[in-house]
Amino acid sequence: MPVEINPTLDYRVQPLSPEAHVFAVELRITPPPAGDLILTLPAWIPGSYLIRNFARHLIRLLAGDPEGDLPLEKRDKQTWTLAHRGLPVVIRWQVYAWDGSVRGAFLDDRRGYFNGPALFLGVRGLEGLPCRVEIQPPQGPAYADWRLATSLRPLAAEPFGFGTYQADDYEDLIDHPVEMGIFSLIPFHVLGVPHWLTLTGRHRADEARLQADLSRICTTQAALFGELPLNRYLFLAQVTADGYGGLEHRFSTSLLCAREELPALGMGQPTPGYQRFLGLCSHEYFHLWHVKRIRPRAFLEQGLEREVHTRLLWVFEGITSYYDDLALVRSGCIDEAAYLGLLAEAITRVLRTPGRLVQTLAESSFDAWTKFYQPDENSPNTLVSYYAKGALVALALDLTIRRDTAGTKSLDDVMRALWERHGRTGVGLEERGFETLAMAVTGLDLGDFFHQALDSTEDLDLAPLLAELGIGLRLRAARQGKDFGGLAANGAPAPATGIQTAEGATTPTPSLGIRLRPEGAEPVIATVFTAGPAQTAGLAPGDTLVALDGLRISRDNLDKLLLTAGEGSEVEIHAFRRDELQVRRARLAPAPLDTCELWLLADAPPQAQTRRAAWLGGQGRAVSVADAAKG
Ligand SMILES: [Zn+2]
Repeated sequence: MPVEINPTLDYRVQPLSPEAHVFAVELRITPPPAGDLILTLPAWIPGSYLIRNFARHLIRLLAGDPEGDLPLEKRDKQTWTLAHRGLPVVIRWQVYAWDGSVRGAFLDDRRGYFNGPALFLGVRGLEGLPCRVEIQPPQGPAYADWRLATSLRPLAAEPFGFGTYQADDYEDLIDHPVEMGIFSLIPFHVLGVPHWLTLTGRHRADEARLQADLSRICTTQAALFGELPLNRYLFLAQVTADGYGGLEHRFSTSLLCAREELPALGMGQPTPGYQRFLGLCSHEYFHLWHVKRIRPRAFLEQGLEREVHTRLLWVFEGITSYYDDLALVRSGCIDEAAYLGLLAEAITRVLRTPGRLVQTLAESSFDAWTKFYQPDENSPNTLVSYYAKGALVALALDLTIRRDTAGTKSLDDVMRALWERHGRTGVGLEERGFETLAMAVTGLDLGDFFHQALDSTEDLDLAPLLAELGIGLRLRAARQGKDFGGLAANGAPAPATGIQTAEGATTPTPSLGIRLRPEGAEPVIATVFTAGPAQTAGLAPGDTLVALDGLRISRDNLDKLLLTAGEGSEVEIHAFRRDELQVRRARLAPAPLDTCELWLLADAPPQAQTRRAAWLGGQGRAVSVADAAKG
């Protein structure tokens, strides 16, 4: 009987031409299994729910063996068939890399970066085999100082050096982004486990501050789950003028941040920008448990060739968005006042999305591929973010559990149970599995809660839940400028119960029912809100506003013109649609009460303060560090 020998899979990556932004990639299969080989590249990258068709950047795909060339037949946009002679096969291709995001590949003469799904062809049927990847620096003396950062396991490579790395299987291979170039390397430890932050791009950040704050946040997250299931972790951050974003992986995360969000030497309390950066790091780190190891069953069963639909994205992104900022206050990086300010802004953002009254959270999750990830001018009217509303549902769920179990249980307990049953075991989470588990862990009947939160478009009633913690909530009109609400000073007028509406300190600006495009010099309409004055008047997205009652409209003076005209008045608006001038008449509406203010209730009972301290203090557990020498 012939002995089956598993083929070895050896990849090689060479930054072939930084000037042309091209990586050369090679795969050797020794020996190839019997039958044709089917090669394929993913259509999407885990964590980002959009079909990206990475194969569109693939060029010059060729195959051969020691006897010569081998024929490749293209089957669809991302799949090829390769017939072979049983001899060791070499497949070579190139990838155009000019994607500055955290999701693709990038190469120039200052920096190289790639995610596996953008570079590595997989072989159908061989996905479960371990593989090696040799990563070379670009050739030439100009690149002598380049280093490499990745959470791939080194096989023959110095720490942060070029060389050969290994992966358990194809899924592992494509889950470790690789950064190369010249970067700051900031080491720190979390419960004895080595962690690093790399910063690529010019910066003058206070590295000691970053070490201290990230270490505290990561320790807080580990305490929530009670286990740190890894032996190394990397934050790979690219610093730009105004970037923001992140993508989670099992042993690392790729981040994009704005230079001014990094902490300057001598910074005292975290600036709003630094809070945002820490919140982003906290978010992606939380994902190492929640979505990278605890996973929807649908993601385990289906591949990366086409969309995978799940109603659970609110669980994975909403709950993560709730805990990202919560970990900042629990770890002591920000104080209670700063946290409540962030929470008020988060509530305001949801209230300013009329689409929350159209799309449910479950629908938002399911349709992420074609709606949330492909927004257009009408999206605010029809979509709700499973991040933003999902975080408020997580808050409401947490506070409901705390109230109805007299503080003996919380969402933290549900997360720990989720980790025990689905993270440690690798058993995928069923579509309704989170709801079932939350009820089992807390002993509460949360059926009505989940129905309202996930399957209806009714607003969540947060005010009574927050009042239990001695926190007041009221809604008012936005003030001029960028006003997302926040924490009001102590002694703000106490509401009797629930939401009290109140006028802002300044006269609110009447509403025309539009949002302007944030960019460009001219006042161009981005969105016309459903049934608002502008829509009734016939204005449309893309219209360029010219004049209001005969006075020129600029980006800066529109609020002033509306204020002068006054609520309820009818105004004449001139606007261009393409190159045709239109004249419309609109009746200005009262300013919407869509700005959230929270404040600490002066007359709250002492128990309320105890409950608030328990919530913001968390209930961390002793943490075990898993022996994760593999993977
Ligand atoms: Zn996320």
